[in-house]
Amino acid sequence: MSAQGLPGTLVRPSPPANGAGEVLGIIRTQGPCSRAALVDLLGVARSTVAQRLDLLLQRDLIVAEQGGGGTRGRPTTLFRFNHARGVVLAADLGVTHAGVAVTDLAGTVLADTSHDLEIAAGPRHVLDWLVQRFTELLDRIGMDPSRVFGVGVGLPGPVEASTGTPVRPPIMPGWDGFPVAQHLADHYRVPVLVDNDVNLLALGEQRMHWPDSEHLLCVKVATGIGMGIITDGRLARGAQGAAGDLGHVHLADKQDYLCACGNHGCLEAVAGGAALARRLTERGLPVPDARHIIGLAKQGNTEVADLLRQAGRLIGEVLATVVNVLNPSLIIITGDLAQAQEQLLTGIREMIYSRSLPLATRDLRIVVSSTPGSTGIVGAAAIVLDRVLAPAAIDRLVSTG
Ligand SMILES: [Zn+2]
Repeated sequence: MSAQGLPGTLVRPSPPANGAGEVLGIIRTQGPCSRAALVDLLGVARSTVAQRLDLLLQRDLIVAEQGGGGTRGRPTTLFRFNHARGVVLAADLGVTHAGVAVTDLAGTVLADTSHDLEIAAGPRHVLDWLVQRFTELLDRIGMDPSRVFGVGVGLPGPVEASTGTPVRPPIMPGWDGFPVAQHLADHYRVPVLVDNDVNLLALGEQRMHWPDSEHLLCVKVATGIGMGIITDGRLARGAQGAAGDLGHVHLADKQDYLCACGNHGCLEAVAGGAALARRLTERGLPVPDARHIIGLAKQGNTEVADLLRQAGRLIGEVLATVVNVLNPSLIIITGDLAQAQEQLLTGIREMIYSRSLPLATRDLRIVVSSTPGSTGIVGAAAIVLDRVLAPAAIDRLVSTG
């Protein structure tokens, strides 16, 4: 959401495009560029390029530096993106845990912290807590809050991305309809983007590790089960932001399992971390949460290993249908239970390869995330950077006082 579009704030007409944003986009994606290279790339007059560069230089969005010798031995001036010009605040809020960071405008983490946090404490408590953590991190790196370009937050439930509002999140009591983006925008007066945590994991995975993968699924198996979908290189959120709600796919023969969403037989109610922990506890093996399940699996507990393999098969069975529908080239498994590679991943692979169409699985890779702790933060920063550094946003920034 742009701060300009918030109810109660001044809505200004957009100034005409001045082309500075397009120039910045080239410099950001291609690295330092000379004036001549920009003239060639854009096909406009040298004076036009100079004018656009001046606008970006005046705003400190780029810096000029001397490159190597030109064709006649004269040094060439190169224009480089000034990623230190500002910062982005990024948070990945899970059900019981939160990662919080400040990044530069290239998405590089400058300071971060992680804490146990109960999302069930409600939006006001959690968001007040989050603002305090952001303030501490800004202080730690000596960054003035006026240099914050935007805020990105991932939440463990469905989010209407256009307004940044959670929509009937099953495991976030008190958050339904709470205007999270607006609440933070009132505080920071910058664009705030809120999305489902697994969407941000999918985006973070793609940006960090799989930039050439245009069709991927990122499946988080932790307390609950969720999925982020990237098709044609873009996040697929669906009409209301509910796309990828894998955890609440109904399993016909599991009617006995009551889900946190109120329905019976949801995949998450049978194979999610909270469900597995509950079942083990009922069987006399007290397990408080998903993370402890992994500890027991690593110690070689066979009952836990069996349960994880069964959970993997159930998740794989549902994913096999998704693979037939979406034909991804890559599935990334992440979340606490993804560490049980031997059991969970084996079960998932077994079902996908046996139940999906051969053409859909011919080149399909199924991997475990290599950076589970930091991917969500990268994704949260990425949605903000895509918005605040978009050509139209930069054109607006350089043409306003
Ligand atoms: Zn459910």
